[in-house]
Amino acid sequence: MRFLLNLLLVIVLHAPPAIAETITEQELRAHIAVLASDEFEGRKPGTEGENKTVNYIATQWSQAGLVPGTGNQSWYAPVTLVERFPSAFNAAFAVTSDKQQRRQVIPASDIILRAKREREDILDIPVIFAGYANEKPEELRRLVSGKLALLHMRKPKGRNDLPDYITRKKQLITAGAAAVLSVVEGNVRWSRSTRFFQRSGTTLEGDQYHGNIEGLIRGDRIRKMLKKAGLHEDQFDIWQGDPDFRAMDVPVRIDLSAQTHIRKYASHNVVGKIPGSDSQSGVILFMGHWDHFGECRIADPLNPSKDRICNGAVDNASGISLMIEVSRRLAKANLSRDIYFLATTAEEMGLLGAYAFVDDVPFPLDSLIAVFNADTVALAEDGRKIAAIGMGKAGLDDEIEKVAKQENRELDRSGKSEVFIQRQDGYAFLEKGIPAYMITSAFADEVRLKAFIDGSYHDVGDELNESLLLGGAVDDANFHVALGHYFGSTATYPEKGSSDIGAN
Ligand SMILES: [Zn+2]
Repeated sequence: MRFLLNLLLVIVLHAPPAIAETITEQELRAHIAVLASDEFEGRKPGTEGENKTVNYIATQWSQAGLVPGTGNQSWYAPVTLVERFPSAFNAAFAVTSDKQQRRQVIPASDIILRAKREREDILDIPVIFAGYANEKPEELRRLVSGKLALLHMRKPKGRNDLPDYITRKKQLITAGAAAVLSVVEGNVRWSRSTRFFQRSGTTLEGDQYHGNIEGLIRGDRIRKMLKKAGLHEDQFDIWQGDPDFRAMDVPVRIDLSAQTHIRKYASHNVVGKIPGSDSQSGVILFMGHWDHFGECRIADPLNPSKDRICNGAVDNASGISLMIEVSRRLAKANLSRDIYFLATTAEEMGLLGAYAFVDDVPFPLDSLIAVFNADTVALAEDGRKIAAIGMGKAGLDDEIEKVAKQENRELDRSGKSEVFIQRQDGYAFLEKGIPAYMITSAFADEVRLKAFIDGSYHDVGDELNESLLLGGAVDDANFHVALGHYFGSTATYPEKGSSDIGAN
């Protein structure tokens, strides 16, 4: 009896605290405090910070009652990353009309290059201003193949018919350009862009996207080169200004040499699952990226103790915290559909973890009914509108509107946050024709979002402190629970999903 009583006492004391239906600010704050702590080193893929992060997420999901969702009893799906870092490079050009072909060196302060292989020398190749245009693929191939293709980093204003920068770069590489250089204007943009370029050289193993040599060049250097070649210094703008612009040859030849430090390493997506009562009725996926930039500032010799860690409290410890608490609620909900939770790696390197997941999904891809990506949910106060990035493209707008009404929430219909659509993990799913939304009140609060992006975003100041507003994050978290209930049940959302939303 005494023994039984003790046992009962032990059970009572050790039983997990009952979970309230509503997610609270304290719950979110507690996860952010861990994930964005200096101990987690800024959650950089391939570091001890990754180990701590993925372990924390899997432990939380396990405690919430989820099971591993990779399809092989593990919480961790390996993602092999290949990092390319520019180490040394040279560039020189000659004007084609110069019979002696005298080389003019481009100073290292005006150009940055990275190669696909450890060493790449592309010598004496023609140059073309590719800019932005809508050629047929075979026409583009004929124009740029074997040449150095130049384009501005910004596409012409007001030309929605033209491809965006990333798409255009891909087009040029696919068309067989020997090298692609992007023209960057202004000092501030140059330092920002080169910093981003240095840390954006990571791809998935086997990825074909990056060209043999790619890089950035200053606009001022281009103007000098054009004048030397006998053209107007703003010749590129003049050409691009023509509504019927097509790629134009530039009367110079160029030498490019690049040495690149290449490192291959393993990272991981974390995948958990709440099995539904009817596993044939489709899948709902909640996702968010766990990674951030780690130590993102160079040591200051005069002040060695100065903060160098990008902790990523908003981006995206907040989204992971939301997923943990949403999973705890939905694990108790007895839903009919399988609910998957995915914490991706390498979002900051170009949505790489999301692309790796989409390429190797642990369930039939066409059983996926809806994807909800939680990224950067902290910033706004409570009671604000919600932005749903993907509106008008993902095919579930009316259903989301319905859930919003039920929850007394108002959707932001301005469409302003759509500019971020390609910069969030959900895009990897949209490209496959799967309805994917990024839902956050932070992106409906233009003033606070702008202040964040111009301020601590991707820098050491993105930390958890008292001034970080989590009211909007709480709203968003509870709204995600509602979305899980609605789309997770065949009673409320009977449809088998719609894969007819345009993309293929
Ligand atoms: Zn980010």
